[in-house]
Amino acid sequence: MLKIGLTGGIGSGKSEVARRLAARGAVVIDADRIAREVVEPGTPGLARVVARFGDEVLRPDGSLDREKLGGIVFADPDKLGSLNAIVHPLVGERVAGLQREADDDAIVVYDVPLLAENKLAPMYDVVIVVDAADEVRISRLAERRGMPEQDAKARIAAQASREDRLAVADVVIPNEGTLDELEARVAEVWDDLVRRAGRG
Ligand code: ADP
Repeated sequence: MLKIGLTGGIGSGKSEVARRLAARGAVVIDADRIAREVVEPGTPGLARVVARFGDEVLRPDGSLDREKLGGIVFADPDKLGSLNAIVHPLVGERVAGLQREADDDAIVVYDVPLLAENKLAPMYDVVIVVDAADEVRISRLAERRGMPEQDAKARIAAQASREDRLAVADVVIPNEGTLDELEARVAEVWDDLVRRAGRG
């Protein structure tokens, strides 16, 4: 199994790259997505969250009200600790299960937004960084996600700088051009990963 850490700042195109690698056969593991899945309606995870924090963290449709829960736990470290004690083991189990299911020669891509910030590079065989200039990311977030420019700038400022992210990269995927250009670079990177995984 070849373990890939995929990262990139908000708006860099990391999700586009993850999708394209999955289409080529990578097993993509997105811990943020799994953290949402383990507390979907009907899950034991959500039942435990409600047992701890009460019905007021539910929306009328029975789904978790993340803003409300966030407001509760981020104001109180003990509560954040107990939420993490519910969610982290469930995420860990799911990730371990996905790893067990993957073939020995699988290329497993971990989608890790804060890889550079949390100094996680040593956990992976190959670190891939999706890179674009801040201005490109700001205009993408405005056009594609309707995010106000000030919000985009604040989010970018709260993350690692481009330089810090590039410093931990084994492979860089520049993404300032078209989606066709991105696809071409992903194809090259995939061939390289297949070689590294000993499949080539
Ligand atoms: P991230 O996961 O890094 O935050 P996304 O992959 O979601 O970023 O990309 C942000 C937005 O920009 C998405 O709507 C995506 O489709 C779009 N996008 C990404 N790369 C390009 C590109 N090269 N050309 C045009 N749009 C792009």
